[in-house]
Amino acid sequence: MFGLKADACSIPMPEVYYGLDDYAKSTARWCPGCGGHSILAAVHKVCKDKQYPPEKTVCVSGIGCSSRFPHYMGTYGFHGLHGRAFPVACGVKFRRPDLHLFVITGDGDCCSIGAGHWVHAIRYNMKMVVLLFDNGIYGLTKKQTSPTSALGTHSNTHPHGSVVPPINPLQTTLGFSNVSFVAQTTDWHPAHLQATIRKAADHPGLAFVRIVQRCPMFMKDLYGDMSADPNSLILLNHEKGIDLDPAIAKSFKRNLDHDPSDLGAAREVAEIHDGIPVGLLYQNTENMRYDDYGAHNLGMSIDDKSKALDALLDRYAI
Ligand code: SF4
Repeated sequence: MFGLKADACSIPMPEVYYGLDDYAKSTARWCPGCGGHSILAAVHKVCKDKQYPPEKTVCVSGIGCSSRFPHYMGTYGFHGLHGRAFPVACGVKFRRPDLHLFVITGDGDCCSIGAGHWVHAIRYNMKMVVLLFDNGIYGLTKKQTSPTSALGTHSNTHPHGSVVPPINPLQTTLGFSNVSFVAQTTDWHPAHLQATIRKAADHPGLAFVRIVQRCPMFMKDLYGDMSADPNSLILLNHEKGIDLDPAIAKSFKRNLDHDPSDLGAAREVAEIHDGIPVGLLYQNTENMRYDDYGAHNLGMSIDDKSKALDALLDRYAI
């Protein structure tokens, strides 16, 4: 961070300019080649591009490899309980709607133990960017079947292959009440990853981004070939979609026109299995947001609320 002063005839400059270093803290201790590294770099970049003050930015996570994320951000952070990132994040946003909020969760954290909170966080639609690191396995506990593990995945809990069909996080989220933003990207396409997180950060409600993530330690065969094959990604094209540099957009071998205001079409895209559709599946900026109520303190000033809470607690004082 450094201060800049404008002279009399120059364009006014901000007093403070944040660099990438202002958002970084300590060395990430994920395995070499883990997709988490590029996601972390993308969030640093988006925070810098948007000049989010680090002291006005919060990263909330649950438990899992991905949930170590707040330790690597030079912002405020909350490394919470397994599956409980969403309620903590909703509490932060309700009380401090002025903060920039990222929720970091994994496929186990969000889609298994945290699934109940996932449903209601989507329904509440409070402004936050949710990054689902989906590597299809429990990595922190060393290779157990997760809710998104493909049928037949060999793991320590299913040595002969998993037997229950996986959850599709895109399709599931698109089915929740009041869903307002669903996108998909991958850890191995940094330009698309950054552009997607940037679009999510601009959304007025809860932006849910599924990031297809590589786990070379325990699932090296899952996306290893796909990440090296340019034909594996299908770019979703639309003027309302992710804003990509035209030269980068041109580099995609496969394209699909998709209007992100069409929920039914988004559900069809979520079912594509002969490649990974990347882009904005669905967006509706008009949905009701619960943080609107928080911002107005349910019709009470903060002082009135504090007095009412004190009075309530006094009833139980001895
Ligand atoms: Fe990343 Fe997998 Fe290592 Fe966890 S176990 S840090 S997800 S590579």
